[in-house]
Amino acid sequence: MEHKTSFLGDYQESRTLAQQIAKNHIAPDAPERDLNHTFPSECIRILGETGFMGLIVSEDHGGFGAGRVGFTSVVEEISKACASTALVLVSHAIVTKAIELAADKTVAKRWLSDMVKGHSLGAFAVHEPDSGSNAGAITTRAVKDGDLYIVNGSKFFITSAGEADLYLVLVRTASEKSPQGMSTILIEKDNPGLAFGRLENKMGLTSTSSREMFFNDCRVPSKNLIGKESEGSQVIGQTVVGWGFFGAAAISAGIANLTKELSIKHAKERMIAGQPIGVHQAVQFMISDMILGYEASESLLMSCAAKADASPDTAAINGFKAKLFASEVAVDATHKAIQVLGGHGYCRDYVVERLFRDARGLMLHFKTSEWLRQDIAKAALGL
Ligand SMILES: Cc1cc2nc3c(=O)[nH]c(=O)nc-3n(C[C@H](O)[C@H](O)[C@H](O)COP(=O)(O)OP(=O)(O)OC[C@H]3O[C@@H](n4cnc5c(N)ncnc54)[C@H](O)[C@@H]3O)c2cc1C
Repeated sequence: MEHKTSFLGDYQESRTLAQQIAKNHIAPDAPERDLNHTFPSECIRILGETGFMGLIVSEDHGGFGAGRVGFTSVVEEISKACASTALVLVSHAIVTKAIELAADKTVAKRWLSDMVKGHSLGAFAVHEPDSGSNAGAITTRAVKDGDLYIVNGSKFFITSAGEADLYLVLVRTASEKSPQGMSTILIEKDNPGLAFGRLENKMGLTSTSSREMFFNDCRVPSKNLIGKESEGSQVIGQTVVGWGFFGAAAISAGIANLTKELSIKHAKERMIAGQPIGVHQAVQFMISDMILGYEASESLLMSCAAKADASPDTAAINGFKAKLFASEVAVDATHKAIQVLGGHGYCRDYVVERLFRDARGLMLHFKTSEWLRQDIAKAALGL
């Protein structure tokens, strides 16, 4: 398959390509993957062939070199077909960005070209059982020992864990319990001392494979450090926050878009006593909320992405706004869609049921809505 195109031209071209691939190759088996909790390996292979696994890697390194506007456009189209596949892609993109920004040259050479082609998959591991939403309180430790770091601790709910080949792991390298004492390091799947927990039986995003990760005297080459010691917060800021939040917002926007389309279709086709249910004002109100919700979240996302592309220093606050709004719109839209579809909407045979379960996870992942509301208000208040 030869689909590779460039973001140097109109990003709409790449969005259209993503739309075609999503419709033809990703959407058809999405219900089955959801039901069987099957990891979307075949979708990743196809996205690798198209170059989308290197979506935000620079063209110098064989990627598309997309900015956030291009990134979110493609992720939204893929999410419209399968939110789980889109989340696996976003997690992977975060790791490629970290490698490109600050990895040792030999490490970058070893991994980037394979990752761009989708031959190797990346995942990021920040969250821990005891620190929860507060990444600054992590306790997984990496202690320097000659040319190695010895890593001990655990991570929780990690997307693609056990499937990905390379993990961007946030660790504590200094004794003080502060964000300043944290670093990021790449750990390979087969690294001795790394083990994976059972597959989490999640409500939605079921084909993403979430697992716990355990580091038990895991000896990692020190050249795998991303950036310098104590730069972990900055690395996470430039990757998970700077790009991942836009990816999460785009996943939610894709869900809201499909939800709206399916609800309109159903309201036109479902006949009761000789009339389509769409003639009723109560149904029209729900559809109208879905249309406005989607359009508002898409506009906010694109405007926040464009602002962050123009001034990367504003990426965090723009990503927070886009993610908070889009994730809540998607939950509201999918909730209403089940109402529009009635009993059908509550059955696995209809896509909106999956969309509802998938949308709900995005209000938790990356940062919960509560933390985002606090962050946005604190930025405005100068706190
Ligand atoms: C589908 C999915 C995929 C994920 N993938 C990854 C991944 O790939 N990598 C990764 O590192 N992590 C991943 N996570 C973890 C995710 O980042 C965390 O679930 C999230 O940060 C919330 O942490 P928690 O689940 O421990 O909730 P908790 O921290 O236990 O929070 C529970 C509740 O308390 C509230 N709360 C907690 N502290 C405060 C506070 N100070 N102020 C106000 N309210 C507060 C929260 O908002 C929430 O409502 C994933 C999670 C999900 C659901």
